[in-house]
Amino acid sequence: MNKKKLSLPARIFIALALGVIVGLICYFTKTQAFTEQYLKPFGDIFVNLLKFIVVPVVLLSMIDGILSMDNMAKVGSVGVKTMAYFLCTTAIACIIGLVMASIFNGAGLFPDLSEKLGSADYKPPEYQGLMATIVAIFPSNMWEAFRTANMLQVIVIALFLGGAIMAAGEKGKLCRDFAASAYSVIEKLMHFIINLAPIGVFTYMAWVVATQGAEILGSLALVLACAYISYIIHALVVYSTAVRVFGKTSPGKFFKLASPAMMFAFSSTSSAATLPVSKECANDLGANEDVASFVLPLGSTINMDGTAIYQCVATVFIASCANIQLTLGQMVLVVITATLASIGTAGVSGSGMIMLAMVLQAIGIPVAYIGLIVAVDRLFDMGRTCLNVTGDISCALCVTKWEEKKAKQKV
Ligand code: ASP
Repeated sequence: MNKKKLSLPARIFIALALGVIVGLICYFTKTQAFTEQYLKPFGDIFVNLLKFIVVPVVLLSMIDGILSMDNMAKVGSVGVKTMAYFLCTTAIACIIGLVMASIFNGAGLFPDLSEKLGSADYKPPEYQGLMATIVAIFPSNMWEAFRTANMLQVIVIALFLGGAIMAAGEKGKLCRDFAASAYSVIEKLMHFIINLAPIGVFTYMAWVVATQGAEILGSLALVLACAYISYIIHALVVYSTAVRVFGKTSPGKFFKLASPAMMFAFSSTSSAATLPVSKECANDLGANEDVASFVLPLGSTINMDGTAIYQCVATVFIASCANIQLTLGQMVLVVITATLASIGTAGVSGSGMIMLAMVLQAIGIPVAYIGLIVAVDRLFDMGRTCLNVTGDISCALCVTKWEEKKAKQKV
């Protein structure tokens, strides 16, 4: 009998739904420990597999993208458009987050956790300052950057190596062929690992629903709702408009074809780990291979609209708990610092919360107050990572169309 295999998005969706059902069962039968001990480890294995290919994927994908463009002017043109798209959408995300949080706060919907402030015991890492952060983007040791999966440094290495191989011309041919061949091998590996995605999605969803169910019902539900409404508004307004106007694609088609990456990001909470799936989705949407190879690794490292929204909502909420009313000047500062903080956020689980410290510091709120939301950070993280990844895919599509238009004008 010729059995038709379900498509990957369908399998991921079924895994997501089953995960929620099993999670709820474990939550109500008080068998959360089962999900923690026996299901989550399979999700961890899957995410480990993705993490281990992330450095080669980013490195080789960017080098391959640069070499395929075969012209530094084109790399520059794609780079400028990509950065402009990232910065504009992130700034809009901050404004949406701030407006929604102010509405919720103004309507008295945020819980008053001020009596808990004394027990907020989150210890933030030291923030080094802007210049030290910029210096740290440039690696002093290539292998150290790979070993610690420092993605900003890996991107810098890819840009330099790609440019140098191109500049070396005929003499660099061996390196060019090696990069192309190694990337094909990594792509095969990526396909294999992505096929295991439903297992990762199912086990993580079951674990999250079983262990965090009580927290959702707890006092932070409205803050969470505020963040999710902002995520949804951003996706429906900003990305829908961008893909329709610039990407010449209907929003319905866009969200349908981007959904495997969105669901995967939702359950894995890592943009970097979702990169292989995002690449497939961008491909299906008709984004140019070279452009996507350049935009997506960069986006998974520096383009975080969901994180920016979360940082704004969390800042307003924490400020209100500390009885601080933000002035307009402070709000502008929040937009600027949240945009920068989201750029500095690594595409891994939970890092947006660490960078929230920078925003709070900028407006003079004690950073230890992050302790108020630590417990439910994963729930915020699921939505923000989903939005982060959607933003990257929409950018790949829009930049593709802009480049096509430019090429046609030249003819
Ligand atoms: N988990 C997010 C991501 O990978 C980053 C964050 O924590 O905000 O995109």
